[in-house]
Amino acid sequence: MITLHEVLKQAEMQGVAIGHFNVSDLITLKAVFESASDQNVPVIVGVSEGERQFLGVRQIAAMVKSLREEQDFPVFLNADHTHSLASAMEAAKAGFDWIVFDVSTLPLEENIHQTRTAVEALKAIRPEILVEGEIGDIGSGSEIHDTARDLRKGLTTPTEARQLETRIDTLAPAVGNMHGMLRSMVAGDTKKRLDIERIRTIKEQTRVFMTLHGASGTDDGDLRRAIAAGITVVHINTEVRIAWRRGLDSALSTQPNEIVPYKILPQAIDSVKRLVGARLALFNSGRRHASLSRASGRSRAPHGAPIS
Ligand SMILES: [Zn+2]
Repeated sequence: MITLHEVLKQAEMQGVAIGHFNVSDLITLKAVFESASDQNVPVIVGVSEGERQFLGVRQIAAMVKSLREEQDFPVFLNADHTHSLASAMEAAKAGFDWIVFDVSTLPLEENIHQTRTAVEALKAIRPEILVEGEIGDIGSGSEIHDTARDLRKGLTTPTEARQLETRIDTLAPAVGNMHGMLRSMVAGDTKKRLDIERIRTIKEQTRVFMTLHGASGTDDGDLRRAIAAGITVVHINTEVRIAWRRGLDSALSTQPNEIVPYKILPQAIDSVKRLVGARLALFNSGRRHASLSRASGRSRAPHGAPIS
């Protein structure tokens, strides 16, 4: 089975992004897995500390592992936004593939120090585990917000990224993204816009894999440009939750007398599948020509050398 690191490397060379979707239950998990399997693209399932608490750390790890093994399909599990070393170590021991170690609210020096300690502790448990560091302010809560701070502030600088880069496998920068969506974004009236040049500069100066968090409600063209500029993984959570809620509402209202869960819930699965399928198609739309991706299938460019 291909490793997560190999999946990210392949995506980087092909100019595509891997979709990362948060799940809270079996409906969202089934929808994410089936959509990725329909399109035959690798996928990452994410669970935040709250989602893990609800699902059970070892239980979600067992479910993802059983899907991966039964179908021989590259589905990976990420411990999203983990704020303490104890919680990160629990996930690593349960078999998670990736840990987002998020102490981004601390001053940069302390963030770097704690992240370095976490990387050492986690790789001692599972050498192949990937660890993501976070710099900058992308807010918290994949919910519907009434207001947002100025998204042009608190952005990650290339200098900060270089300082953290040597300790981590992947970086979550603040580049105009934010967790959650405004009501106007849910209605489709406004979109998040990304700082594409900042993404390109950080990528050129660090070569680290970059994850775009809080991508729900982002302008489609900006997402395509961000992937072309160096984003390798895109996180979608709020849009999944909205699709789940709408699917469930519709299933309950169209079958008011039905009580059998497996007759009601497929409508919710379909609703989430449509969303995930559309997002995966977008993330893969810039795939470079096969011969080109083979040509760039050599080793990664030397540090700091941009791939043209
Ligand atoms: Zn996030």
